[in-house]
This record gives sequence, C-alpha cells and structure tokens, in this order.
Amino acid sequence: MKELKYRGIAASNGVAVGKLRFLKNSIEKIPSYTVYHIDNEILRYENAEKIADRELEDLYKKAVKNSGEESAEIFSIHRMMLEDPDFHDLIKNNIKEKQMNAEKAVNEASKNFISILESTNDPYLMARVTDIRDISERLVKILMGKTTTSESILEECIIYTDDLTPSEMLQLDKSKILAFITAYGSQNSHTAILARMNGIPCVVGCGTLPDVLDGKYIVIDGSTGEYETDPSEETLIFYKKIMESEKLRKYQLQRLKGLPSRTSEGKNIMLYANIGTRQDVKCVIENDAEGIGLFRTEFIFMEKTSAPSEEEQFIIYQDVVRKMEGKRVIIRTLDIGADKNAQYLKLPIEENPALGLRGIRLCLQKQEIFKSQLRAILRASAFGKVSIMFPMIASVFEIKEVKEIIREIKTELIIKKIPFDPATEIGIMIETPAAAILSDLFATEVDFFSIGTNDLAQYTLAADRQNPSVSRYYRQDHESVMRLIKIVCENAHKAGIWVGICGEIASDISVTKKLVLCGADELSVSPPMVLPIREKIRNL
Ligand code: PEP
Ligand code: MG
Repeated sequence: MKELKYRGIAASNGVAVGKLRFLKNSIEKIPSYTVYHIDNEILRYENAEKIADRELEDLYKKAVKNSGEESAEIFSIHRMMLEDPDFHDLIKNNIKEKQMNAEKAVNEASKNFISILESTNDPYLMARVTDIRDISERLVKILMGKTTTSESILEECIIYTDDLTPSEMLQLDKSKILAFITAYGSQNSHTAILARMNGIPCVVGCGTLPDVLDGKYIVIDGSTGEYETDPSEETLIFYKKIMESEKLRKYQLQRLKGLPSRTSEGKNIMLYANIGTRQDVKCVIENDAEGIGLFRTEFIFMEKTSAPSEEEQFIIYQDVVRKMEGKRVIIRTLDIGADKNAQYLKLPIEENPALGLRGIRLCLQKQEIFKSQLRAILRASAFGKVSIMFPMIASVFEIKEVKEIIREIKTELIIKKIPFDPATEIGIMIETPAAAILSDLFATEVDFFSIGTNDLAQYTLAADRQNPSVSRYYRQDHESVMRLIKIVCENAHKAGIWVGICGEIASDISVTKKLVLCGADELSVSPPMVLPIREKIRNL
C-alpha cells in the first residue's frame, strides 16, 4: 500500500477518496459587532430561540418515528437545556451590558458554560459539553440564516468536523458520506462509534485542517489512520482503485445474506453482532447477523444523570428483543468501572481501576441497581429469546451469588404474575485468566461462555488495553490468549455447553480459522463485519 502523508487515529476501517466537506462549528466565523438597538437584538435572539425549540420538537418527533424513544431523548434534553434560565440570562446580559450582537452573545455564553463543565473533570458533565455546543450552534445558525446539517449534504463527500454532536449524528444522511475525519475525538467518540456501526471509514484526532481545504480532495485510510489532503493525481488514482474494489467487495458480500455461516466441513458457527444501543439493531438486521452476541448495557447507564429505572430499561430491552424476532439476544449486565463511569454511581477513586470495583463486583455491591436491571431483562425475555451474561467473573462464588439473586427475582415475578421466560439462558464472560483456567468449574454453573478477548488479553499480558505506550505488548492473538481460548472451548464442550467470542478478535478475519479450530461455536462481531466473516467461515 502507498503510504499517505499524515496520520491520525484509526477509528473505522476502509479507504475513501473524495471531496472534503467542512462541517465545522462556525465558532471562529461568528459575526461580531456592537449593537445599539438592544431591545431589537434581544427580540432577534428570542425569535431564534423559539425557532430552535420548534426545530428540536420536530427532530424529536422524527427521531421517535425513525429510531424510537431512546434516540429521540437527546432532543428533549436539548429543549430543556435551551430553556435553562441561567443560559438565557447570560445571553441577554451579554447583549444588554456588553452590547454584543446575538450570535456573539450566544457563543460567549456557551463558551462560559463549557469552561465551567470542563473544569469539573467529571466525565458525565464533560460529556454535556457537546450538547451545549450543539444548542449554541443551532441558535447561531438560525441567527445567521444558515441551513441545518441534514439539508447541507447534497453530494457524496468526506466529512471533516471537530467531532460530531449527537443531533448532527442523527440528522446526517449517511448514504452520502464516504468517510469521516475529525479534529478531535478518540476511538470511542460518538463519530467513531457511529462510523464503525455503519461501516464508514473514519480517522479521528487529526487536528485542525485549514479552511482552504474545504472542497478539496482528500484520501483517508481508516484502518491505518493515514490521510493526505490535496493528494497528487497518482495517489488519487491509486486509492480510488482501492475504494472501488472495496465497494465492489461490499456489494458482492450481499449475496451471502440468508446463507448459513457454515464451514466446508459442515461446522455451523453462530455469527452474531455486538451492539451498544438499541439503534444499533438496525445495522445488525441490515448486515444479516444471526443474533446479538453482546449488548453492552452500560451505555444506557452512562448517558444518564441517575440510574435508569427498571421500566426505562425494560422498554429498551423489549424493543431490541422484539426487533430481533426470536433470534438470540445476549444482554450483558452493567459493566461499569475502570474506563467507563457514571457520576451518580459515586465510584471510589481507585489506584488501579481496571483491577478494581468493576463489572460484576460493582453489581454485587450495588444490588438495587443490579436487581432492577435483572428484572427488566427477565421481563423482556417474554418477547423473544433472551440470554443474560455477566462480566468480569473471576471466582465461582460470584456466579453462585448471581444465580441466587436471579432465583429470588424469578420467584418475585411469578408471585406478581409478571411474564418471563423461565428458560432464559445464563452465561458468563470469560475475560479474566482466572475464569479461563477455572472454566471447567464454571461450565457446570452456566449455559454458555462468551470470551471477552479485549479484557482477557489485557489481564493475561498485563498490558493496559487503553495505553498506547504498551500497545506492542497488547495482542489479542498472543499465544497465551489463544491457549486460554482453547482451554475454555475444551472445558465448555466437555460439559456440553456452547462457547462464543465477543472481543475484537472475533472481527479479525486473519484469526477466524484459528478461532474455529480452537472450537468457538459463536462469533460476535461489529455489524459491518458479519458478511466478511461469514464469507471467511464458508471458505474454511
Ligand atoms: C471484552 O472484554 O472483550 C469485551 C467484549 O468487553 P468490553 O470490551 O466491553 O470490556
Ligand atoms: Mg470486557
């Protein structure tokens, strides 16, 4: 492959060549002038605020219709934030006392709010920065008579942005987006996650690109993080060919829809997909996954200011289960702690959070939250085929305690005559070396295993999965990890239970053969990888 000039962070695989389209928030282009007719300017702001509110109401309704209540919720939060009296006062004061024009007054107020939020160092409050930016951009755009994001993408392009706000994400017409490139963000930023779910190439963390590049050609390679702006004719042609062949390959893969994921020797692999939100189910279905092998429920908890109620969770799980129409949905209970946090849980500050109170350890300590989640999942089991999976298990006593809690909840549901599937399967994630080594003991306690190689590799190799300086030591296909996978598969099969793999290694085509040879019965991959992995399995 021809090397490209610059490098950001690889966030979603694939090559793209196209014209750059700047979707930058227009903070630096905001008009700034002194106003003398204060009342008129306040009126102008108030009108913009009313229009913004109407737009948000429309967006809310549209999102409910297209993607359900949960994804629409962001717009009702924005409406509430828009009504915040402190925000209003600050804007009006900027106009009255500093004679700022409305656009500048909004922008200054939002900067003020953002710096307060950022100074808290609280991950939840810091995440709200994007929402404040989103609201203030909307107001400024209205004041400046600009169009909204969804209307402005008319032709195929590569989007460059600071980092997309949630409402921009929902409004974008993804069929026109060849790739994303962002100034900020990490592999787990909104844009990166959205890109991966939709199979759109993405490079993040590239810094500020000069405005003159808006409309110029760019080449990006989402698997290496490389990119080149204003490339030579030769580079353009080279990468265009790769992009065309990737497109053709995607098209050819469509023929695999509906076919079994079966090796030439006749071994059937259950080929499932991983999801983080209920909206992801759409990609699961589009890519013909045979089930959901990992529903990371912590995202439902991380988006909130207080723990989601049993009812809220039930609505989400039930929706996912119904949409999967009888296909297996493995719901993993809350795996919070370490890098994933929710302020209201008031987690202790730990020196080694990856070795601390995370996953099942936290749930066994905060049993009210755990029990309400289990009740919600069990209730959803009445609507399809649900399995429950527990993260970060290391000792047998943990699963025994969990099973006791489940027994209690089932009894409670029976007494209250609330329907659930009594045969709901229970499984554990094998993501600690302890669980792998003791998998013979665990196999007699549960219905299935799912190997979480993202963590299993980190704990086996003593290499932090998030720390770039030890990335050469962190390898999911390391011989030690592969041997543990083999041990787990053997122990599972001896006890007559099935075993899956839901870590990133399952999406790696170069390892599929080894995983199948180790004895994996199920692979759970990111939705766009379902068909490539199916093709690989069928050619084994
Ligand atoms: C894993 O550890 O492999 C896994 C799938 O869980 P997560 O990435 O959510 O920790
Ligand atoms: Mg894990």
